[in-house]
Amino acid sequence: MIKKVQTDIVIVGGGVAGLWLLNRLRQLGFSTILFESNVLGGGQTSKAQGIIHGGTKYALQGAFTDAAQAISEMPAVWKKCLEGTGEINLTNVPVLSAYQYLFSTSKFTGKLAGFLASFVLKGNVKSLEKKDFPEVFQHSKFQGLVYALNEVAIDVHALIRELAKPFYDFIFKIEPLKENDLEMDDAGRLTKLEVQNVLGETIEVQAQKYIFTAGIGNEMLVQKFKNKKIRTQRRPLHMVIMKTEYSYPVFAHCLGLTATPRITITTHKAKDGKFVWYLGGQLAEEGINRNSKTQIEFAKKECEDLFPWLDFSNATFASFLVDRAEPLQSGGMRPDTAMFEEIENVIAAWPTKLALAPKLAEGICNSLVHANIKSSFAGASALKNFPHPVCAIPIWDEML
Ligand SMILES: Cc1cc2nc3c(=O)[nH]c(=O)nc-3n(C[C@H](O)[C@H](O)[C@H](O)COP(=O)(O)OP(=O)(O)OC[C@H]3O[C@@H](n4cnc5c(N)ncnc54)[C@H](O)[C@@H]3O)c2cc1C
Repeated sequence: MIKKVQTDIVIVGGGVAGLWLLNRLRQLGFSTILFESNVLGGGQTSKAQGIIHGGTKYALQGAFTDAAQAISEMPAVWKKCLEGTGEINLTNVPVLSAYQYLFSTSKFTGKLAGFLASFVLKGNVKSLEKKDFPEVFQHSKFQGLVYALNEVAIDVHALIRELAKPFYDFIFKIEPLKENDLEMDDAGRLTKLEVQNVLGETIEVQAQKYIFTAGIGNEMLVQKFKNKKIRTQRRPLHMVIMKTEYSYPVFAHCLGLTATPRITITTHKAKDGKFVWYLGGQLAEEGINRNSKTQIEFAKKECEDLFPWLDFSNATFASFLVDRAEPLQSGGMRPDTAMFEEIENVIAAWPTKLALAPKLAEGICNSLVHANIKSSFAGASALKNFPHPVCAIPIWDEML
């Protein structure tokens, strides 16, 4: 006979969304367990550049869009957590840079400059004098402008570890959920969820709510639904990592001709102590049709173009493709904010940005409280043979 475990809430998927939510729900007294089929953060989260966007990047299109509005509260929420006074204690998560810098290659004027000036007035953006430029822009050959955006960059891998720590005993590794592990009735009510460990032991899990924060894994759930309210999209990126000999970090968006920065650079320390530049932005969006060799050549040329005073001949490169998993938007556009859809006892959720994980958790917690989900005490002893998943390691330590 199949063993059963009963709990208030089950979360499937241990990226930033699932882990943040686990913390919040447990703090609220809900008996909650999280299942992860791989390593914690091993989907999109460990590939994130770690920028806690405040919306300025989105505002580059010249208007304060919904996306910019939704995300503008996020730096303050994270700041509190990083200082130890927020909803989750993240004092052990290193801030890699207090600012993300925005630079132009020349001294531009016009609408954009005026627009940025309005942000300067609001205090979200600081226009810098040459003496205050970050080290990489101190060279005489740099002729552009630099703004400091009020957006920190954090160590994502430390974040995953810190989010997993408080309730690690309630996080279990399972074999990837397959369609026939779930049963739903015609209304879309989940009537059965079975999880399996690596030894093939199967447990039936009964909960009041089942929350799917499985990133790309949410697609399987959506297919299972007869209800077509929820649909998904993927937006691919071709990211590049470059190990340099330079001993200073670079955290910068380069202004391009479109709303997406021409390149977005963050810097991370590899396990050999060297700095890795992690390159995204337009380079990654438009690079999806280039093969790895061409993408790396393109990235190297971009770096040589933008930083002609630096020498990249000894740098080592790698590139990889990764999909952003999101709810479907018209025209495949970027969603404006964190989103979740609730059908009967199932919630499918997407933060759409690492920075928006607290907003997603807040929305779901409010919805559960309104739905009058009762918190109860439930043990997870039936899961004693299920191991706890480890945390993802940085992609540069895997590839470079
Ligand atoms: C290259 C890149 C850079 C980014 N940079 C930033 C940034 O700087 N700032 C920012 O705010 N956002 C950034 N983002 C967006 C951000 O990373 C994502 O929005 C966020 O990490 C999504 O988190 P998640 O928990 O929903 O999904 P994921 O991190 O993908 O987690 C889903 C988890 O579910 C598990 N899973 C999947 N299927 C199953 C299954 N069947 N059974 C059990 N478990 C399953 C996976 O193994 C995974 O661990 C970036 C995204 C990418 C791709």
